[in-house]
Amino acid sequence: MKILLINFLFAILFLVSCNGKQDSQRTKVNDKIVIQLQPFKNMKMDEVDNIAKQIETIYPNVEVLPAIDFPKNSYYQPRNRYRADSIIKFLSSQTKDNFFKVGLTTKDISATKGKVKDFGLMGLGYRPGKACVASSFRLNPSKRKEQFYKIIIHEIGHTQGLKHCPKKTCFMRDAEGGNPTDEETDFCDNCRKFLKNKHWKFN
Ligand SMILES: [Zn+2]
Ligand SMILES: [Zn+2]
Repeated sequence: MKILLINFLFAILFLVSCNGKQDSQRTKVNDKIVIQLQPFKNMKMDEVDNIAKQIETIYPNVEVLPAIDFPKNSYYQPRNRYRADSIIKFLSSQTKDNFFKVGLTTKDISATKGKVKDFGLMGLGYRPGKACVASSFRLNPSKRKEQFYKIIIHEIGHTQGLKHCPKKTCFMRDAEGGNPTDEETDFCDNCRKFLKNKHWKFN
């Protein structure tokens, strides 16, 4: 009886795998998630396009969305900041399967960190997540573009499931309340290995 049952299960599996061929091919294409860059108003669109091009060198599926306003509930008036968790919640709620959104802004963003109710941030991303957000507000103006890319790629890394990395030169290094991006050069081998399994391409 047991053997029969196992054979029966095999037969079902076989049927499913035959019938599912087209489906599984489709899933293969679909499981390459599309990164959507979502600028908030006041971001320069040519800068967003350049960021997209830069990300495309290591992850081919990137789209740029038209700029939108911040969700109203994200504004924190006492410090003229926008709450990163509210932004992420808003972006996640509008993001379909197989996509994830990266909010981009020049405004200051913040979240509650430990006992600090409103802690200024360069970026925030959950691990894993459907959305993250990066701000250029706290960056060194003379190195803004370079540093902003590093912040963005770090938050995307979290959304993909990466934790903070102990390597000081890795994009996934913990900022620990500062801005160590100038010491970061790339994803380290371990972080690359993780991302390669998610269709990221490195030389
Ligand atoms: Zn982080
Ligand atoms: Zn690393």
